[in-house]
Amino acid sequence: MYDVIILGSGPAGLTAAIYTTRASLKTLVIAGVKWGGQLQLTTEVDNFPGFPEGIQGPDLMSNMRKQAERFGAEFVDENFDQVDFSQSPFSVKIGEKSYEGKAVIIATGADTKWLDVPGEQEKIGRGVSSCAPCDAPFFRNKKVIVAGGGDSAMEEACVLTRFADEVTIVHRRAEFRASQIMQDKAKANPKIKFALNSQITEILGDQNVTGVKIKNLENNTESEMPINGVFVAIGHIPNSSIFKNIDVDEKGFIKVRDHYHTNIEGVFVAGDVHDRQYMQAITAAGFGCAAALETEKWLEMQK
Ligand code: NAP
Repeated sequence: MYDVIILGSGPAGLTAAIYTTRASLKTLVIAGVKWGGQLQLTTEVDNFPGFPEGIQGPDLMSNMRKQAERFGAEFVDENFDQVDFSQSPFSVKIGEKSYEGKAVIIATGADTKWLDVPGEQEKIGRGVSSCAPCDAPFFRNKKVIVAGGGDSAMEEACVLTRFADEVTIVHRRAEFRASQIMQDKAKANPKIKFALNSQITEILGDQNVTGVKIKNLENNTESEMPINGVFVAIGHIPNSSIFKNIDVDEKGFIKVRDHYHTNIEGVFVAGDVHDRQYMQAITAAGFGCAAALETEKWLEMQK
């Protein structure tokens, strides 16, 4: 029996684990097969305080995990299949194994949102990607597209210019959602071009990506653009669908009640799975800390 089971191992889950273990709560982190969350897929992190020269995303996550382990957090590097929040203690199932906890912190984060156009899913890994830091080296001297108009699209485009000859940001509106500083960085890069008021409608190619169909949303005309790669950076979908009795909003983000509680007493939430506004490593870590402190208080009150 654990005091706390933490579902997820991004900055929210690992920070929560550091706090619960330091509060002497017996803590299990169900970390997932790909533990560490989205920062495992990135390179330099320049905006996490405490690292004046920046830090590589995977190094940051590895440090956080070591810190949680130092205080006694236990880890299972598997994905859970099922949760039962109908009665306390709560149970989390991985295959035949079942883990029980008096409290649960959901910190399952968010995953890539895809364009959902013909040719996309079958070409993931064959020219379609959602991770420039992971896949950019495959596009040395090639032409690629980044879909999206937020900070992620700007960042992915800049990363890609280290390898690709030409990067076109395709965005469905004329204005970007990205912060000014990120927009300026992309606009100042001579390798980056822009296709605005445009939407990718199909990804072409038999095996690998050879081009895209793009619709100009101003005059409703469609054209083909030869291209070697498509990087999708149009936001994320919260990983909440597995929790059947937890209240979520229309986009699937978990609704937060008082003190980081979900609608189920004893089940707390932290990070990108509830935060549709900030989605930063540092805010996720902060939410993880808050949820852990609230969990500690709640467990104390149950005694
Ligand atoms: P985002 O800010 O939600 O932007 C998503 C972009 O994709 C928007 O421009 C949106 O268009 C477009 N889009 C959404 N659905 C689409 C669809 N079906 N087809 C075509 N385009 C679509 O997501 P994000 O860029 O991933 O950023 C998420 C959060 O992480 C933000 O808070 C951001 O600041 C943060 N972030 C920060 C950094 C950094 O600080 N270094 C880096 C990356 C991300 P519309 O604008 O028309 O809605």
